Amino acid sequence: MATLTQTAERAALNKLVDYLNDDPEKHLDQIMELINKLVPDNVFPVQRAAFTDAIKGRSNWYQLIMRVFQLNPQMRSKLLKALIVDGNIMAWPVQEKAREKYGCNIPWAILLDPTSACNLHCTGCWAAEYGHALNLSLEDIDSIINQGTKLGCHVYIYTGGEPLVRKHDLIKICEMHPDCIFLCFTNATLIDEAFCQDMIRVGNFVPAISAEGNEHTTDARRGKGTYAKIERAMDLLREHRLPFGISCCWTRANADTVATEENMDWMIGKGALFCWYFHFMPVGRAASADLIPTPAQREHMYRFIRAMRSVKPLFTLDFQNDGEFVGGCIAGGRRYLHINAAGDVEPCVFIHYSNANIHDASLLDALRSPIFMKYHEGQPFNGNHLMPCPMLENPDDLGRMVEASGAHNTDLVEPESPEQLREKTAPAAAAWRPVAEKLWEDERDPLYAKRHTDPTQGMADSDMHKFARLGHRGMES
Ligand code: SF4
Repeated sequence: MATLTQTAERAALNKLVDYLNDDPEKHLDQIMELINKLVPDNVFPVQRAAFTDAIKGRSNWYQLIMRVFQLNPQMRSKLLKALIVDGNIMAWPVQEKAREKYGCNIPWAILLDPTSACNLHCTGCWAAEYGHALNLSLEDIDSIINQGTKLGCHVYIYTGGEPLVRKHDLIKICEMHPDCIFLCFTNATLIDEAFCQDMIRVGNFVPAISAEGNEHTTDARRGKGTYAKIERAMDLLREHRLPFGISCCWTRANADTVATEENMDWMIGKGALFCWYFHFMPVGRAASADLIPTPAQREHMYRFIRAMRSVKPLFTLDFQNDGEFVGGCIAGGRRYLHINAAGDVEPCVFIHYSNANIHDASLLDALRSPIFMKYHEGQPFNGNHLMPCPMLENPDDLGRMVEASGAHNTDLVEPESPEQLREKTAPAAAAWRPVAEKLWEDERDPLYAKRHTDPTQGMADSDMHKFARLGHRGMES
């Protein structure tokens, strides 16, 4: 239960959001100035400097912030409060305390699969073959969130299967937990007018739409007419001024088409606020190592995303190449974990090994289970954060952790041993290593190069409370 001080801090921070929301162009400069005046120098210094520069220089990041303030006014305030105040500023000190108290990783976000079902039948996707067999019930999801919020986790991300097969339940969950923010990876084909109205009403649901190619490649893989449905969903969201992003899995086959300025302009034109790029992972017996991007393609992606970041009003994350900003691997509950539709609690959506199932273990028990503790002890798996993964770039580490922890395979289709996985990833890891070493030496972002660890990791709990108390003093001055 929140203390009186926390309740007062939350109320004050929410007032700051209202003030900003009221006239963002006028109030953004003032609020940033106030924050810089009141926040101790050692609290988020790098991030604050970046924001201050972006606002002063009216850069592409400023344009992105202003795009957020053009969202539907009926839901904007709820979204900002759930994301900024509840999901981050208020949440962080609770997570920190729990980390210290329980001596294990405590996540910032939890990924969960509400269902293994999907309404499409994409070539090569396990969900089509697996069908409707597995679901987390409404009560299961509610219980996970209740346990998570006690530990300070207010960010929930749905994967699947196609989560929107359960869209009525997901909207109910949004209503039950207004202090949480819900992101959802989706094929978007079930987004319709009624769902947009639901999103406006609840204010804390944000889709991340899978888009990995043009009409021809999308329809060939997902079925005729799918691309048109995806575009229609984006148009509907844009017309209602609703927030959404894009999720893009890039492979050796599509790397050259997705890493283009034209593709990024298409996303922005459609109304996307963010794009998360996911490096292909050859997980599962049917997944071919031939789709792992080449070192040249990965280097190109590294440079492309960084170049676009300084000019485009789109928030991009490049999974596998952005480890320097988060201190390497974020799995095993360090910043996130994954719960599949059978309830298995896995360190990462790509790591199908577990010692705990949410149907017979608490979330905290899962965080303290042997494989999660191996992550906790082993992170970072490499001092070079361009090689963060215990499976992809450090392929011996996963087998060692699985063996030492006794974790079992949780793959929903066909079990795969760490050795079988290693056979696919080891050659790619060896090929990437020299390129990663050179890039790490020559190209690290100067803002972050001096901080070899997670920039927020060293922040003291008391500093976060000072930051949260800003609200009171801000209102008084
Ligand atoms: S286990 Fe690998 S894929 Fe998962 S978060 Fe860590 S580095 Fe990324």
